[in-house]
Amino acid sequence: MAVNGVMDSALRSPIADQPGQSLRIDAAISWEAVQRECAAAGVVLHLTDSYRPLAVQERIFRERYVTHFTGIDHRIWRGVNYWRRPGTASAAVPGTSNHGWGIAVDCGVGSFTSKAYRALSDHGPGHGWTNTAGRQIQEPWHWEYNSAHDQHPSPVPTPKPTPKPTPEDDMPLNPADLDAVGERVKQILRAPEFQTYLRDVPWAHPISGSGMGPAAAEQWLADTRQSVLDISNVVHGLAGQVTALAAQIAALGAK
Ligand SMILES: [Zn+2]
Repeated sequence: MAVNGVMDSALRSPIADQPGQSLRIDAAISWEAVQRECAAAGVVLHLTDSYRPLAVQERIFRERYVTHFTGIDHRIWRGVNYWRRPGTASAAVPGTSNHGWGIAVDCGVGSFTSKAYRALSDHGPGHGWTNTAGRQIQEPWHWEYNSAHDQHPSPVPTPKPTPKPTPEDDMPLNPADLDAVGERVKQILRAPEFQTYLRDVPWAHPISGSGMGPAAAEQWLADTRQSVLDISNVVHGLAGQVTALAAQIAALGAK
């Protein structure tokens, strides 16, 4: 499983026309689609940041946050109190940034009223990209990807369901059948969508100390509920497969 800010390059993809920038593979594909649509609308997007390794998150945090009281943006990192230096932009506690999951970009759009911001607002959300979190902290440049809201997700192979044995199914089983069922379980565990659910679980981003406003916290709770449902659906399907496998093994033993 990926760790925030420590994402293997195999899990990331460089972004077309954005030298040095990369994102989680599905987010990269999706962002490139947003870029193409905005370009067609006459707006060329430039990224200033995307995937952010842990060391960079730490450097940025230390540049902007100090351990003496400034009165703004209190955060706790490794048990130590920090406050934001006046005049600097907000930064996530290292290890919690969505940049560290490869699902956030900083895009030079200027302001909330610029042509580029409008183009992104028109073309981003359909591909799962929103400025919701950025807007909470007055950052028009910070856009985040949520694969659950991507209406054009990149194609991932969907494993075919294995038919459940019916009570009247007394066909003899052979080792090839068992191999097939075992292979099926492995397919589910390796399925990109199952891995994605695990990586996307928002409980990796704690509310406390995140500087989240009420709307963002509400969204966080909604996303968490959805992720739990998604995971429970996948696990439920997997449990069904394992039960079927156990029944087949028992039937084989009874012969
Ligand atoms: Zn950002």
